Amino acid sequence: MPPGDLLAEWEGMAVTDGRHLFLEGGAGVEIAAVRGTRDILPGESRLWAWVEEAARRTCARYHYEEIRTPIFELAALFARGIGEVTDIVEKEMYTFVDRGGRELALRPEGTAGVVRAVLEHKLYAGPLPVKLFYVGPMFRYERPQAGRYRQFTQFGVEAFGSADAALDAEIISLGISFLTEVGLKEWELRLNSIGCPVCRGPYRELLRSRLEPLRHELCVSCQQRLDRNPLRVLDCKEEGCRRLTEGIPPIDEYLCPECRRHWESVQEHLNALGIPFRRYPRLVRGLDYYTRTVFELVTIGLGSQDAVLGGGRYDGLAEMMGGPSVPAIGFAAGLDRLLLGLEAAGTLPEPGPEVDLYVARVGDVPQAQVLRLVTELRRQGLRVDMDFLGRSLKTQMKTADRLGAVFTLVVGEGEWERGEVLLRRMSDGSQEVLPREGLAEKVAERLAAAQAIARGEV
Ligand code: AMP
Repeated sequence: MPPGDLLAEWEGMAVTDGRHLFLEGGAGVEIAAVRGTRDILPGESRLWAWVEEAARRTCARYHYEEIRTPIFELAALFARGIGEVTDIVEKEMYTFVDRGGRELALRPEGTAGVVRAVLEHKLYAGPLPVKLFYVGPMFRYERPQAGRYRQFTQFGVEAFGSADAALDAEIISLGISFLTEVGLKEWELRLNSIGCPVCRGPYRELLRSRLEPLRHELCVSCQQRLDRNPLRVLDCKEEGCRRLTEGIPPIDEYLCPECRRHWESVQEHLNALGIPFRRYPRLVRGLDYYTRTVFELVTIGLGSQDAVLGGGRYDGLAEMMGGPSVPAIGFAAGLDRLLLGLEAAGTLPEPGPEVDLYVARVGDVPQAQVLRLVTELRRQGLRVDMDFLGRSLKTQMKTADRLGAVFTLVVGEGEWERGEVLLRRMSDGSQEVLPREGLAEKVAERLAAAQAIARGEV
């Protein structure tokens, strides 16, 4: 279609000059990723695939299966699940009304959707525990900064149907295995128990009675927290608030007998697994649904003291969402922050070769024949690329080098007419003439041998 027609087609919609988008009758809007979001480009996307594979491998070892829930849900799900008076629900949710008048929200976290799915499909009525994991984008309207985005990716696991402390220990152990798998060896496990609604009531009252007289010395946020969820004053980062809460007895001294037994059992299991932890009375986590165990894995030696993974038990959530009582525990790890941390620590894996083989075409060999050859090689399972821009042999060789090709197959006019091609080993420049007949199998053999040598197996 000629460009004129294309414009006519677009009339009344939007027109772009490549950098700006002109909406009907309006001023130009610069086309750029929305604030707080970003593109993951090829070099980086390989690292993402690597981290996600590590998550999947770890989950397979612990027998957790993947669940994929929608990216948007009814906004009410999050209000009910996460709690109406949390920052996430009050200030950070991307909510919108769809054309059918439904109030929806982009998911700000993974647990509420997973619980909804477990209830909707009655997974709790099948074999227990139900052990699930997810990897995917979450959305929060937060102030963007390094490591904080409005769209970010979490890897999370959730296990339903057992209140046994052994499951708490398993989930924590899974989290640590994942961090180890991606090369993060230094971490601190911060652990606390915030009890159940029964034991939390009196503790909340204790906090209120201690802090009420100091109300005006607390930060503005904590003054609100004091009214709505005084426990959260404990994890305020403000120095002043921390000082004011210093002498307050830890919550684990107020646990009811059952929660105390559970708390002790979690610690015994971790000890038995040889997992060191720090009891961290200030750790309460931001969300309303947690009961008993809460934990964070904080990376150390990466400059910032940042929690890359956090979670806890949420025995009351299924019931709060209208289902039966199903005890559960889970965690979420922020993969953006994890990758930043690994990058800062210089422990990211070196990028590997992008192809095994590059096919260079010289002279008048028909492009279609070369493409066919490349396709045959690909069918052998080799990673192969070729030139599409008619570049010189020298430039094609440079490309082969840049891509990390083990061999380059030089398809030159003379050899091609004789039914032959030249296989060049990139590491030492040695060359071998191979017949066109049965070429793909031969190249695959040569490559497997070269790779075995590179791995030190021969
Ligand atoms: P949360 O769901 O708030 O417990 O967060 C779990 C993990 O997700 C955190 O430890 C962070 O690593 C990550 N995370 C939370 N919010 C953001 C954000 N806005 N941008 C990037 N990562 C985030």
